[in-house]
Amino acid sequence: MSKLTGRIAIVSGAGRGIGRAVVQKLAAEGASVVVNDLDPDPAEETVAAVKAAGGSAVACVGDVTEAGFAERFVRTAVDSFGGLDIIVNNAGYTWDTVIQRMTDEQWDDILDVHLKAPFRILRAAQPYIRASPAEHHRKVVNISSIAGLGGNAGQVNYAAAKAGLVGLTKTLAKEWGRYRVNVNAVAFGLIMTRLTEAPASADAGIDVRGRRIKVGVSAQLLDAMRTTVPLGRPGTPQEAAGAVYLLCLPESDYVSGQVVVCGGGLVI
Ligand code: NAD
Repeated sequence: MSKLTGRIAIVSGAGRGIGRAVVQKLAAEGASVVVNDLDPDPAEETVAAVKAAGGSAVACVGDVTEAGFAERFVRTAVDSFGGLDIIVNNAGYTWDTVIQRMTDEQWDDILDVHLKAPFRILRAAQPYIRASPAEHHRKVVNISSIAGLGGNAGQVNYAAAKAGLVGLTKTLAKEWGRYRVNVNAVAFGLIMTRLTEAPASADAGIDVRGRRIKVGVSAQLLDAMRTTVPLGRPGTPQEAAGAVYLLCLPESDYVSGQVVVCGGGLVI
């Protein structure tokens, strides 16, 4: 029997990058997973990859910031698999600039996706968790960033959201201990995904609510960032997923309210 056999998980932003790797890891260890992404095709590709490997997954396509999404996400787990044991709040993107150029919209969008959406998903899960206490511990893993712990120039919106998520994590660990839920966060350093890769072209970006937002960092900046990592290289999405997995295991049942930095040795 695998470590997570019988567990039911929801993972937001799981069509690509770290979220996809988290889904594949949890599913490989026996969990049934609800795969969310804003973009339908990547979400379905993640589901197909899990099924091809013999696992169990369904898609729940949608924008985590939309009203009513959180309830639909939680309900998909309960309706499809009969419960909810693991919640990974991962969806998000960056929309960077220095403070004097940052618009209210830029601030609000990033706070919405990285902080308000996890709050709503966890609030939507509470009635279910309260009504049907599990025999095992349930797990929440919120995805933060070293930018939320140490700040990062050009990211006041993102750093504030990711720092807020740490406050949410620590508070919910205190509220949900009585339900036997472990609530932790993983703060990533430099992980190679489209958020951190050199953009393929000058107009490369992501499409969110009808707007194209530039993501990625220049090769020069990437080289500079690489030199700050004690292990001397960026992490892979699979290594990032490994840190999330540790906090989903029964072996971490007495770890709650913590932030694990997965950053190749970076100390904040
Ligand atoms: P990614 O772009 O590869 O994957 C993120 C996924 O989230 C995408 O598939 C995207 O479509 C989806 N998404 C974005 N907005 C969404 C929304 N509103 N609703 C539903 N889905 C949405 O990026 P990634 O690097 O894998 O990022 C995953 C998480 O890790 C993010 O929260 C990010 O802030 C965090 N993080 C990443 C790094 C890094 O170095 N890559 C570092 C620190 C933190």
